[in-house]
Amino acid sequence: MKEKQLNEISLRTDELDKCVNCGLCLSVCPTYLVKGNEGLTARGKIVLLKALIDESIEVSPGIADLFDDCLTCYACQTVCPAGVKTQRLWTTARQDMSGLTSAGKLKHAGLYWTINKPKLFELEVKLAGLLSGFDKDDHRQAKLGKQSLPIFKGAPYIRHLDGEYPVVNEVGSVGLLLGCSVNLSTPWVADAVIKLLNAAGWRVVIPKEQVCCGAPAINNASWDIARKLAVHNIELFNKLNVDKVISPDGTCSSAFSHDYLELFQSDRELQSEAEKLAEITTDLGHLLAEALDDGRLKLGKYKKAITLHDSCHIIHVGRGSRWRDLLNAVDGLEIRELPYSDHCCGFGGSYAFFHNDTSYKIAERKINQAIETGAEEILVGSPGCALRLQSVVNNTNSGIIVRHTAELLAEIVVN
Ligand code: SF4
Ligand code: SF4
Repeated sequence: MKEKQLNEISLRTDELDKCVNCGLCLSVCPTYLVKGNEGLTARGKIVLLKALIDESIEVSPGIADLFDDCLTCYACQTVCPAGVKTQRLWTTARQDMSGLTSAGKLKHAGLYWTINKPKLFELEVKLAGLLSGFDKDDHRQAKLGKQSLPIFKGAPYIRHLDGEYPVVNEVGSVGLLLGCSVNLSTPWVADAVIKLLNAAGWRVVIPKEQVCCGAPAINNASWDIARKLAVHNIELFNKLNVDKVISPDGTCSSAFSHDYLELFQSDRELQSEAEKLAEITTDLGHLLAEALDDGRLKLGKYKKAITLHDSCHIIHVGRGSRWRDLLNAVDGLEIRELPYSDHCCGFGGSYAFFHNDTSYKIAERKINQAIETGAEEILVGSPGCALRLQSVVNNTNSGIIVRHTAELLAEIVVN
């Protein structure tokens, strides 16, 4: 039984052997910081995997659940001095053990019947929007919870947008990947991003046939689904002939710039197409900060104190964020630094649904830390973080405003 269930991870013993047991990963693991179980950390999981591979322990639903109870936030990979590539270890182990837990089985069935079938997915989204939706502009209702699906009435938003947003003095063109969290739950972020890119001189192109970036499949090592979605997006965005590609969701842009490169290593042609897309995919904050440096983007006043949460895929996978450079240029705005701003907010995609209690507790810590700074707003770089943190604000009436940094900048940009 064990050999069959752990066949993929058994091929990665070299990676497991790199661990020197230093324990640095404990201090950055959000699930460990809330639950205190070392089995949830990178060091703990590596010990478990080695024991499973050498058959000194039996695989079980309890062990499988430890691998499922992980935000795939990359913090352990970034901090690791031995360079253990932890994320692929966790996703591979999840795949090997997915048949052992109801969450694992449900996730795989869910992936197959949703993002894997884009036309059916759109119908499901429309129905979910009718049943559980909120009005498009009602920001505070786009929240996560055990019972709530955060899908607005009229989703997906891409059907309400134009295919192109031209500008008079164009500096170049940008392909916009909305990402599911914007397309289904936070449509106002798309409006803000289009406004900012146009103000910076970029013509915005929105290919209507874009599909999910595949991050949920990649995080569960559902490689066939991930590759199918990646091939579709790579062909679609490469044939646009745009200068840049961005997404307001750091997870989606890191799928284009990082994850897709791992999917086609045995297919030279697809690998080269993936590399082409990765080369032009950039971070929204970087693109806007460059426009600020060049004097193309002008920002007005904003007399408030804000704090900033660094979204995981921007800080750990991408080139880091330049949101601070943009905010520092705003007259009147004060940045109050958030302690542990690079610790995950608790969202983690499907993690927020399958491990809602832990996810909520992690978000609650983040909101409490934000309130302690005295800031009136907490700004984030990914819409998923805003959804997670907003649930806490709604439940606690704490009053702090949660939003994507692009929303604030769009409010004060000088056209
Ligand atoms: S990816 Fe994040 S949640 Fe998972 S083990 Fe590493 S630090 Fe912990
Ligand atoms: S930080 Fe890296 S080397 Fe240190 S215990 Fe964690 S996984 Fe092992």
